[in-house]
Amino acid sequence: MATAPALFVSHGSPMFAVEPGRLGPQLEAIGRTLEGVRAIVVVSPHWQTRGLRVMAATQPSTVHDFGGFPEPLYRLRYDAPGAPDVADEVIAALRDAGLDATRDDVHGRDHGAWVPMMHLRPQADIPVLQVSLPQDADAAFAFRLGRALAPLRARGVMLVGSGSLTHNLYELRGDVRDPEYAQQFEDWVRAAVERGDTDAIVDYRRLAPHAARAHPTEEHFLPLPFALGAAGDDAPRWIDGGMTYATLSMGSCGWGLDRAA
Ligand code: ZN
Repeated sequence: MATAPALFVSHGSPMFAVEPGRLGPQLEAIGRTLEGVRAIVVVSPHWQTRGLRVMAATQPSTVHDFGGFPEPLYRLRYDAPGAPDVADEVIAALRDAGLDATRDDVHGRDHGAWVPMMHLRPQADIPVLQVSLPQDADAAFAFRLGRALAPLRARGVMLVGSGSLTHNLYELRGDVRDPEYAQQFEDWVRAAVERGDTDAIVDYRRLAPHAARAHPTEEHFLPLPFALGAAGDDAPRWIDGGMTYATLSMGSCGWGLDRAA
C-alpha cells in the first residue's frame, strides 16, 4: 500500500461548497489519485473540545454549523461513512505519542470537514472521520498532533488539516480596501512551508507579517502546523487557491501527493 498523502486545505467560507473557485478543481484532481487510501482523518477548527476527541460514528451526520447563508447550503449532505476501526487506530497512535483521547460515537462532521471533501472526493466513497482540536491548542501542540498521527499514513490513512490560510472575519463583513496584507501573509507562509521551516510556522505569530490581522484568533491557522507534523520529511506541493472575498486566502498545500497516484 502506498503511503497516503497529507494535506492542508483552506476551506474559507461555507460558500466554498457551492463556489469552487480556483481551489475546487485542484482538490478534485488530487481526489482522483487516492486509490488505496482507506480513510481520511480531518482536523478542523469547527470541532473544538476540552481534550482530544476522535469521531467514531459509523455514519457521521452532516452538521450545518453556520448561520445566515443561502438556504441551499443547508440541504447539502456529505454521506461518506465513518470508520470506527480507524478511530481506534487513531486513539492508539495518540496514546503512543503520550496524548490521551476519547472516542466520540455521536458527533457529526462539521463544515470544515465536509465542505472541502465535497470537492476532494465527491463520490464520498472513502470513510472520513475527525479528530477534535482542543480548546487550548496552540501551533506547537497542533504540530505535535500531526506528528503523532503521521505513522498512520503508511497504513493508508490520509491526514488533512482544514483551516484557512487567512481568516479575518471582521474584515469580511466590512469593506476592506487594502487586502495586500493577506497576500503578504500568504507569501511568507508559503516560503516557510516550501523551505520546510517548521520552527518558523510554529512561531508564526511572532515572525510572520500581519499575523494577528490575518488570524485575530488562531484556530483556523492551527490545521497548517498539524499538516506539517503529518507531512514528515515529504516535499510540499503548494496549491494556489487564490483569494476570495478580498482577504480570505484559499492557499493550500499537499505532501506525498505524487506517490498516491
Ligand atoms: Zn472555518
